[in-house]
Amino acid sequence: MHEVAAVPPFVALAYLIAGVLFILALRGLSSPASSRTGNRFGMAGMAIAVGTTLYTHEIANLPEIIGAIAIGGVIGFVTARKIAMTDMPQLVAAFHSLVGLAAVLVGAAAYLTPEAFGIVDATGQIHNASRIELGLGVAIGAITFSGSVIAFLKLNGNMSGKPILLPGRHVINLGTLVAILGLIAWFYAMAAPTIDAPWLFWTVIALSFAIGFLLIIPIGGADMPVVVSMLNSYSGWAAAAMGFTLGNSAMIITGALVGSSGAILSYIMCKAMNRGFISVIAGGFGADAGPAGAGGPVIDRAYKRGSAEDAAFLMKQADSVIIVPGYGMAVSQAQHALREMGDLLKKEGVKVKYAIHPVAGRMPGHMNVLLAEANVPYDEVFELEDINGEFGQADVAFVIGANDVTNPAAKTDKSSPIYGMPILDVANAKSVLFVKRSMGGAGYAGVDNEVFYMDNTMMLLADAKKMVEEIVKGLAH
Ligand code: NDP
Repeated sequence: MHEVAAVPPFVALAYLIAGVLFILALRGLSSPASSRTGNRFGMAGMAIAVGTTLYTHEIANLPEIIGAIAIGGVIGFVTARKIAMTDMPQLVAAFHSLVGLAAVLVGAAAYLTPEAFGIVDATGQIHNASRIELGLGVAIGAITFSGSVIAFLKLNGNMSGKPILLPGRHVINLGTLVAILGLIAWFYAMAAPTIDAPWLFWTVIALSFAIGFLLIIPIGGADMPVVVSMLNSYSGWAAAAMGFTLGNSAMIITGALVGSSGAILSYIMCKAMNRGFISVIAGGFGADAGPAGAGGPVIDRAYKRGSAEDAAFLMKQADSVIIVPGYGMAVSQAQHALREMGDLLKKEGVKVKYAIHPVAGRMPGHMNVLLAEANVPYDEVFELEDINGEFGQADVAFVIGANDVTNPAAKTDKSSPIYGMPILDVANAKSVLFVKRSMGGAGYAGVDNEVFYMDNTMMLLADAKKMVEEIVKGLAH
């Protein structure tokens, strides 16, 4: 905190304004209606924070810094323009890994040249408080880095989404965590760590890289949303710890906001998935499922197949239709056609609602973002707990590219990787129209879905966008 106290008053004010803007950004992001404004607040806050930091710090080499910002900015800009909405979770994981790595690099630089960071006392030793900040900062940063790399590989399909379970993993993980904390305490207690025992600092980093890897590999299937939000939280705490080392209050505020909002999001996701936070963090929850997640897709069972005309006819006759979007809608970008379908149905006097499962798609809020993009009215979009009771009265549940979030195995099959997760009770509707491309393709958790084979289910096997466009044609006739 030594450095923080030394900043000129206008800097403190600028950072305070940036902090307030970040809080307004978070507030804005809590609803799809205000999320764009929220983003703008965030951008303004970040511009003030970066500008103030550049202006007030002794900049050794301005062209180098501008060059680095330009390179990073161009990469960020191009990536943001090019990235498909369905690849956002991987991108987020990749960004988290960069935050973690940045924290480790800043920590290492501060450890190697503590005078340059103003964290030495009169005798030339690193302050005690700084040692704790450094130790915790690099540890959290390294965990965030390696954990996010694994999350990226899993989400990107480079690594199997199935849990990888090491024997005795809980003992190994706990032992490694205790060792990291013990080494940080030792690092703190040592009189002259830079001179006497540099291995302490580097071992903290090495063990933290290892534990990040070990913590994430056993997490599989449906628990990835919790992992993404948890790593988001870690990246915030890593940044906050480095904010102390750098004496930058804007970084402390921003890091703490990201850390705590990520922790709240993790809690919400755990609640939504009916998972214990500790059991997800400890890894391997629901991993004792049978082979290929309770048997994998079964394709030789009897099911009813329908056409777009059948679907249009059925929905035209209905009083109420509940649309359940999932990952497949995002893949095929069917949201605009879907809105058009909803509009046509409403013209026919059908009540149309959208039911959103908290982990539908591949990132928190994925479906809300896509429906908002297609201008689906917010008052037609309902969260699971608000709409689940209505399936019993609905004539049609129109499931489009969703699978795991409708799978009754979550209620009935204890060996299923999604067991315990609340689902949207589409099976209770009078008829279920289920859009997916093939009977073989399973959802993220890799399990078969009983809903496909029910008497009141009609499978609409096609690309979601193409199918909905055909249905729209059928409704327009
Ligand atoms: P699922 O992944 O369970 O199912 C997707 C379905 O979409 C599949 O049945 C697939 O079948 C179908 N599909 C894919 N592409 C198309 C297409 N072009 N046209 C039509 N259908 C298509 O999705 P859900 O949204 O139901 O569930 C999300 C899952 O992802 C949960 O298990 C959740 O835990 C997990 N997850 C969620 C995250 C989040 O934050 N929301 C993050 C990480 C994981 P077919 O291949 O036959 O077409």
